[in-house]
Amino acid sequence: MLEEQLLQVRAAVAEAAKAAGRDPQTVKLLAVSKTFPASDIQQAWEAGQRAFGENRVQELSEKAPVLPADCEWHLIGHLQHNKVKQALEHAAWIHSVDSLSLLRRLNLLAEQMGKSPKILLEVNVSGEESKFGLKPSEVRDLVLAAQGGPCRLCGLMTMAPLGAEDAVLHSVFGGLRALRDEVSVATGQPLPELSMGMSGDFRVAIAEGATIVRIGTAIFGHR
Ligand SMILES: *Cc1c(COP(=O)(O)O)cnc(C)c1O
Repeated sequence: MLEEQLLQVRAAVAEAAKAAGRDPQTVKLLAVSKTFPASDIQQAWEAGQRAFGENRVQELSEKAPVLPADCEWHLIGHLQHNKVKQALEHAAWIHSVDSLSLLRRLNLLAEQMGKSPKILLEVNVSGEESKFGLKPSEVRDLVLAAQGGPCRLCGLMTMAPLGAEDAVLHSVFGGLRALRDEVSVATGQPLPELSMGMSGDFRVAIAEGATIVRIGTAIFGHR
């Protein structure tokens, strides 16, 4: 059941890439396992999935130690300053860097712990009040501040409004890509990764250049 859904999602992701004239290999599938038990993640692992997304540090720290060591853990939810150390213990990627103070703390602790996770800046492209994320106008300064590491900045992340129409999705995802292009030129910093698209909107995200899609429900079921 889970394996079948995973295979279907993989096929749908590849199909969306081809429809956009892109090589399917350039779109990474992140299986968002939040709220689901380690046994479900184990099943997905047995079906070949390695990259998993969790949105809470506590849950990540409980699951990561009981699952195969070659799982690649991505923290995709809001990160509080007091959880940075615990996040760095497990996460290879952090998608939700949304302030200068968080960036500084990540770099400070990563240095002490000898870690160098990949990080993405979360941007609130849609401007919804309820969403975390940097204003587009703040991104340039954070990119400059991130240069020099040890956390390795490699792109941007966003979330579209839930259930939005295609036109809105295109403008949000296309907006993140345009911002990436602009900031990358202005700073000289390559930002190859665009983490955007979830179960309900990944096709549009892939059409707009997503390199990582974060899919939970379509693989693991409803939460
Ligand atoms: C839960 C979550 C997802 C996955 O959403 P689905 O609709 O279940 O695919 C993606 N990104 C973030 C940040 C999430 O919290």
